[in-house]
This record gives sequence, structure tokens and C-alpha cells, in this order.
Amino acid sequence: AEERIRRSDKLAAVGLLAAGVAHEIRNPLTTLKGYIQLLATDIDKNYADILLSEIDRINLIVSEFLILSKPQAIKYESQDIKLILNNITSILEPQARLNRIQIISEYDSNIPFINCEQNQLKQVFINLIKNAIEAMPNGGEIIVKAKKVNNQMVIIQISDEGIGIEEERIPKLGEPFYTTKEHGTGLGLMVCFRIIEQHGGTINISSQLNKGTSVDVCLPIDC
Ligand code: ADP
Ligand code: MG
Repeated sequence: AEERIRRSDKLAAVGLLAAGVAHEIRNPLTTLKGYIQLLATDIDKNYADILLSEIDRINLIVSEFLILSKPQAIKYESQDIKLILNNITSILEPQARLNRIQIISEYDSNIPFINCEQNQLKQVFINLIKNAIEAMPNGGEIIVKAKKVNNQMVIIQISDEGIGIEEERIPKLGEPFYTTKEHGTGLGLMVCFRIIEQHGGTINISSQLNKGTSVDVCLPIDC
């Protein structure tokens, strides 16, 4: 319980920061990028490429913060979660295939509608499935399940056959900037925890090293 309180305090602070700063950073970055592209013919091309890729990286981090900082755009509606999942898996299909990964969907037939902001939920499933893909450098299967647990809850479960996570590291997941990837931002899971918390749900992660990881997103049913 202590862990959970600490995590949501941190998330609240990060959310405030995001709202204030993220948007302001984007415009000057776009200007910088434009001028570097103009100068690229004169200055050494390799230096220009380094500058541009660093700017892209800042943009990526800022976009992840921006997802959290748009409370005015949030509109909850009753949605068919199966359609949302199908939409996301078809978007990520090419990236999966490129990594010799197959995404398999297994939905219970009686999944009720969920009251949600669909773009935010899409963001959650994109982040989770991307993590699954990135955890399987040698290919394999990702299984996306939708299960009705009882009259209150549904679980969307995303399991992979990837590298897994050591038990000691699981409490760190979702902390801002916690990443083990060379080009990771360490913000994807933080965004997921925050969005699901706002939807009155929870996320549980279980994992076995070198076997795979399973992420359970538990969401309340529309009533
Ligand atoms: P990023 O993907 O940018 O590193 P995330 O917040 O999405 O940031 O994930 C944080 C860390 O959690 C990852 O760097 C990785 O160590 C671990 N992780 C998340 N999902 C998985 C997964 N499916 N399998 C193995 N490790 C994972
Ligand atoms: Mg990620």
C-alpha cells in the first residue's frame, strides 16, 4: 500500500509539471529542427544528423508528457473494448511481423462496454504491446485477452514470451524515466498507470525472467 501511495504522489507531481512545460517545449524544437535542416548542407552532415536525432528524442519525451497534460480534451464514452483492441493490434501488426512476432487475440464473447476516453485507452495498449514487442528480440507470440471477471470488472491481459523482468525491478516499473533500454524514455508505463488510475482501474504486472511478462489491465464495467 505504501508503494502505491508513493507512486501516485509522484505521478501527480509529474502531471502538473507536464501540463505547464511540455507544450511550451514543442514549438522552439520545431523551429530548431527546421533551421538545422536548412544548415545541413553547410555544416558537417554527421553533426546535423546527431542534432536532429537528439531533437527527435526530446520530441518523443515531450509527446509522452503531453498525453498526460490534456485534461480538457478528456471525454468519457461507452466503448466496445474489442474494437479498440482490434484497432491497436492492426496498427502494430506490421511492426510485430518485422520482428517475427505474431499477435493473437482471444476475447470472451460477453465483454461489456467500458466507459472510457478511447484515445487514452488506445495509448495504454499501444505502450504495452510495444513493450511486449521490444521484449522479444527473437520473435514469438503476444496474446491479447479480454476477459469478464465478474459484474464489475473486465481484464485486458497482454502476455509476451520475452526476456522478462527480475522480481526486484517490478516495483520500479512506472516510475518516471525508469528504463533499461538504450533508446527508451521510461515514460510509457508511467502514462499507462496514470491513465488506468483515472479510469478507476488497476494494472498488475507479473513476470518470469527469460520466460515472459504478463500485464493485466483491470477496468470497471460501464453501468
Ligand atoms: P521504455 O519502454 O521507454 O523503457 P516503459 O515505461 O515502457 O519505458 O518501460 C519501462 C521498463 O520496464 C522497460 O525499460 C523494461 O525494462 C521494463 N518492461 C516493460 N514492459 C516489459 C515487458 N513486456 N517485458 C520486459 N520488460 C518490460
Ligand atoms: Mg515502453
